[in-house]
Amino acid sequence: MKDTILVSSCLIGTPCRYDGDSRKVDWVAALAEEYTLIPVCPEVDGGLPTPRPRAERRGDQVVTEGGKDVTDAYRRGGELAVEQALKSRCKGAILKAKSPSCGKGLIYDGSFSGTLIPGDGVTAALLKEAGIPVFTEEEQEAFFTFLDTFQF
Ligand code: SF4
Repeated sequence: MKDTILVSSCLIGTPCRYDGDSRKVDWVAALAEEYTLIPVCPEVDGGLPTPRPRAERRGDQVVTEGGKDVTDAYRRGGELAVEQALKSRCKGAILKAKSPSCGKGLIYDGSFSGTLIPGDGVTAALLKEAGIPVFTEEEQEAFFTFLDTFQF
């Protein structure tokens, strides 16, 4: 049986981004040849439509550019992603960098000015708390080193 990896749906071509677009990344999509990919889009899974207003984290909250608090939907989507990762026994997750849900290590600062600050998206943070190793599509080398280093 193939090992499983959780991935952000938009990275394998699903048009689920806030603007109705996708962000397919070839090396992530190609993992499907060797692994069972479990796609999640926490914002859609949390109940938000596509397209939807752009949102950013502000501390523990997530707010849209228009000032609406959408924290609950982001949190619900993150909890569902954790549930899915544990149920599917995912070895790790590859998530979309800089997203308020999926970003890891760097996210936008909540001012909608394109300013990045250290931090994780809601889903990435919950996955890390649950012990799931999280990578972004910008960490191809680190991800393959992780696969080589760990015997599953
Ligand atoms: Fe992609 Fe994650 Fe945003 Fe969904 S929530 S569009 S999977 S970055």
